[in-house]
Amino acid sequence: MHCPFCGTHDTKVTDSRLVVEGDQVRRRRQCAACGERFTTYETAELIMPRVIKGDGSREFFDENKMRAGMLRALEKRPVSAEAIEAAVERIRQTLRARGEREIHARDIGEAVMQALKGLDQVAYIRFASVYRRFQDIDEFRAEIDRLSREPVHRD
Ligand SMILES: [Zn+2]
Repeated sequence: MHCPFCGTHDTKVTDSRLVVEGDQVRRRRQCAACGERFTTYETAELIMPRVIKGDGSREFFDENKMRAGMLRALEKRPVSAEAIEAAVERIRQTLRARGEREIHARDIGEAVMQALKGLDQVAYIRFASVYRRFQDIDEFRAEIDRLSREPVHRD
């Protein structure tokens, strides 16, 4: 990032928190050469938090991977492509709005589960049974019972 005042390349982020404004993220920077402070705006899509996996390793957020998991759960279910894309976008916004540089993979899993719950309960159960690895059939049945008591809410 070049300093807009003196042109040097040596600038640093002074505020580690990400400030999300609509689709953009604001960062405060300071030039190491002339000391001027300035603000940059970045498209939020480019700065999705990194993902902390179960074993502690990090990887880049992979929207395609997340979508693939959702599509597997939604296979042959009566949910439109538009509704799925809207859900993907809502999940991204939710994860971004945390303003964290890193998020746990399980938080993504939970966000996907909540999204699927609103889209299609069969897909939700499919995803949850794989993701949460229900310990036994009783736990699985309890979740289905719980679902059937909840009102269906659609967007
Ligand atoms: Zn400068």
